[in-house]
Amino acid sequence: MTLAIDGGTPACNTPWPSWPPPPDDAQRALLHEVVDSGNWGTTSGHHGEEFAAAFAKRHGTEHGVLCTNGTIALFVALRAAGIGPGDEVIIPSYTFVACATSVFLAGATPVLADVDPRHLHLTAETVESAITPRTRAIMVVHLAGSPADMDALMQLAKRHDLLVIEDSAQAHGARYHERPVGALGDISTFSFQSSKAMTAGEGGILCTNDKELADRCWTLCNVGRVRDGAWYGHPFVGWNLRMTELQAALLLPWLDRLDEEIARREQFTQALVAALADVGAPVGLRPDPVGTTVNSRHLLLLELGDDDERFDREWLVEALAAEGLPVDLGYPGLHGMEAIVNEGARVVPTPGIDAAAPRTLWLRQSTLMAAPERAAEVASAFHRVLGDPRARTRT
Ligand SMILES: *Cc1c(COP(=O)(O)O)cnc(C)c1O
Repeated sequence: MTLAIDGGTPACNTPWPSWPPPPDDAQRALLHEVVDSGNWGTTSGHHGEEFAAAFAKRHGTEHGVLCTNGTIALFVALRAAGIGPGDEVIIPSYTFVACATSVFLAGATPVLADVDPRHLHLTAETVESAITPRTRAIMVVHLAGSPADMDALMQLAKRHDLLVIEDSAQAHGARYHERPVGALGDISTFSFQSSKAMTAGEGGILCTNDKELADRCWTLCNVGRVRDGAWYGHPFVGWNLRMTELQAALLLPWLDRLDEEIARREQFTQALVAALADVGAPVGLRPDPVGTTVNSRHLLLLELGDDDERFDREWLVEALAAEGLPVDLGYPGLHGMEAIVNEGARVVPTPGIDAAAPRTLWLRQSTLMAAPERAAEVASAFHRVLGDPRARTRT
């Protein structure tokens, strides 16, 4: 069998679904309505407020505050909680760079903690060893659609009097012990950037059950105003960090199909697990942390081979792309990013990431939206390329 990278026929020969999916009728209608109304900003329209309330409710919380994006949502959460210069915030080192840069924006110090080498999430153990007297908060990331083990993390946070922010940018609709993410910590953030499970191109939201915290977030995102206060009275410092009504028009109808899309990705995932087992390819799904009841399948964290095996992931990405299957290398770990370390992030040992990242590849959400029958093509692509000697590096 000649690999596609060597001129053979690709294992996957029809395109994968695009992301985001094409807009549905409800989105088109609402978008038109908003455009025609002339109320394009949330200071004059009502769709933003409506969406914020519905999204918050869907994620088990009473209050939702919209903002420009997920990075800013993290910054607002920190600032609303009074976290700033001199404070440390523990974040996973295996995450998107925004977790660190939002802490810098608040003037605080990110501490880049290790993650569990099996599922790549923070755990109470990896966080505990990073705590110092200056620690004020833990930013927990629900990575790839599966919730972190929040019960253990919340217990630890309580013992040390720490705020817990759930960065749920990758976990819209996920559930932990049947409870939605977003309501498991003190405050949560979501992103609606183009790559996320719900998107309006850009956008973000903060969710919480703490009314005072929500009000402070609203003030920070609305130029220091208070709700129902004087328009040019600015009793606090804040910025214009608002989303638009046009974005809300794309997002509000999405709530009605989120569960269906999660179910579709789950179906594909289960078909893939079976197909990989069928062909006997040395690759599988990384496990979920304890307590996951709905993994929203934002993307799939794949685990290559066994502990003692080494793979040439760059070659694999190239060879799989030639087979018609886009996969990604995933995060390198923030502790290896010069800009983040030079800016003052505190680095702690990360044996978990260093062991797991070189055996991890990501499968995209858009691929998971395909018909489950196509899982066999994915398995076949992996089977082919992993059977080639170039897939492995000599140690
Ligand atoms: C996407 C993402 C963010 C940032 O969201 P933006 O809307 O792009 O600013 C933060 N954290 C995680 C884990 C993300 O995946």
